[in-house]
Amino acid sequence: MALDDAVARELRALLGDRFVLTEPEQLRVYDCDGLTGWRAQPAIVVLPGSTEEVQAVLRLCHRRGLPFVARGAGTGLSGGALPVADGVVVSLARLNRILEIDLASQRVVVEPGVANLDVTLAVEEAGWFYAPDPSSQQVCTIGGNVAENSGGAHCLKNGFTVNHVTGLSVVLPDGELVELGGKALDPDGYDLLGAFVGSEGTLGIATRITLRVLRRPETVVTLLAAFRTSDEAGGAVSGVIGAGIVPAAIEMMDELTLEAAEAAYHPGYPDGAGAVLLVELDGVAVQVDEDEAAVVEICRSCGAFDIRTAAEETERALLWKGRKGAFAAMGRVSPDYYVQDGVVPRTRLPEVLRRITELGREHGLRVANVFHAGDGNLHPLVLYDAKRGEADRARVLAEAILAACLDAGGSLTGEHGVGVDKACAMPQMFSEDDLEAFARLRAAFDPEGCANPGKVLPTPRLCGEVPGPYRMHPLERIGLAERL
Ligand SMILES: Cc1cc2nc3c(=O)[nH]c(=O)nc-3n(C[C@H](O)[C@H](O)[C@H](O)COP(=O)(O)OP(=O)(O)OC[C@H]3O[C@@H](n4cnc5c(N)ncnc54)[C@H](O)[C@@H]3O)c2cc1C
Repeated sequence: MALDDAVARELRALLGDRFVLTEPEQLRVYDCDGLTGWRAQPAIVVLPGSTEEVQAVLRLCHRRGLPFVARGAGTGLSGGALPVADGVVVSLARLNRILEIDLASQRVVVEPGVANLDVTLAVEEAGWFYAPDPSSQQVCTIGGNVAENSGGAHCLKNGFTVNHVTGLSVVLPDGELVELGGKALDPDGYDLLGAFVGSEGTLGIATRITLRVLRRPETVVTLLAAFRTSDEAGGAVSGVIGAGIVPAAIEMMDELTLEAAEAAYHPGYPDGAGAVLLVELDGVAVQVDEDEAAVVEICRSCGAFDIRTAAEETERALLWKGRKGAFAAMGRVSPDYYVQDGVVPRTRLPEVLRRITELGREHGLRVANVFHAGDGNLHPLVLYDAKRGEADRARVLAEAILAACLDAGGSLTGEHGVGVDKACAMPQMFSEDDLEAFARLRAAFDPEGCANPGKVLPTPRLCGEVPGPYRMHPLERIGLAERL
């Protein structure tokens, strides 16, 4: 149902004029997330300032049968926060308070619009940190992290978001408020908390989130190991894990990524490297020393020609800056890129990386690789130039890479979610029965299907019709028009 003026008036009465946006130039800001190839203009954007206001908005949507999409910072890379055309976007930006710091219980309670990094900043002086650290952590929100079950470089040892959320207040699509979990671990009954984390905005809106924080480790050591080839680096990853060492992080960057990151941030990555591993070890000093010696030995035996340990905090931060800023640095080597997110069994990393290189060659496009190697979570960045009409080819190549991950026994997303981007790929991994079970779970929370419709589960409309990936207008192609 399209929105009428009465709806806008009712929302203004609920939230105040300032927090209900209807002008086209205001709505445009919300027309996509980090997957910028997909765009749709909502009819209205609301910015509620409390749980009660979120409830009132969803009650109205429920009454009117209006589709709504929750939005955090809009950094998602799978189109999860892509608006439904003519629907409502519920921005959680104003719900950005840290409500409680309870270190005696190892818990921090936040509103969903709090940025990920702000949780660590709030507790670090007292010697604590929040472990899941997406590379977008300076801006992405805890609400978005919960919805995507986000990961990050340091999730190898400590686990993904799902392992760090113990409680949620959730506004269901009919406006009812429910409590899932609390401060204690493992609540009784069905694991509805686990079902909500990673549900990509399809089960309701989280308005209050209880997080587990961890003590800072006694010692942290960051090593850089440079190899001539990705094969060698992949071998070292398997070697480290196979030796029973669990680093806080093992990240890999290939030659193209190193070139871009070096140009953007100058971290001093070694010349001539075909791949670099960043290995971080943390824990008690004696154990870290022992593990460091073992990791150095394994890397050497796998062909590392340069191994360095960051001597001080500033050097360590710079090495990480190159890795965490790698996506943003791609602008140095390509006008456009598409981020793929797939998982492969760690032992098959070298083989899949070779296959990705072959696929890039077959499709005539370059692919840079930067990823959470310890988890086997690949992020191939398909480089293309939209102005030269390469966008469709990039998408086809990205899909072929995903198929290669699945063929190797992997999964279609590691941490960026399914969203709109991969809904059509779901049947490649899940059977019809699986998909039916997902749909029934979803319907138990949202029988009317108003919460983020068209995402995650494939529907004929999504897989065949608009909104679709951006295609260049002929006028743009010949340089007479520009997309802003
Ligand atoms: C440069 C860059 C690097 C990135 N690196 C990583 C990485 O290392 N690891 C990683 O996992 N991801 C990464 N991402 C992806 C992205 O940052 C994460 O998915 C993040 O969790 C999205 O948070 P957000 O606040 O931007 O959410 P949005 O993009 O606004 O929303 C994401 C999804 O969450 C839903 N949602 C938002 N808030 C709520 C809520 N309160 N209740 C219910 N549903 C809600 C939305 O409807 C949508 O489906 C990266 C993105 C970029 C641009």
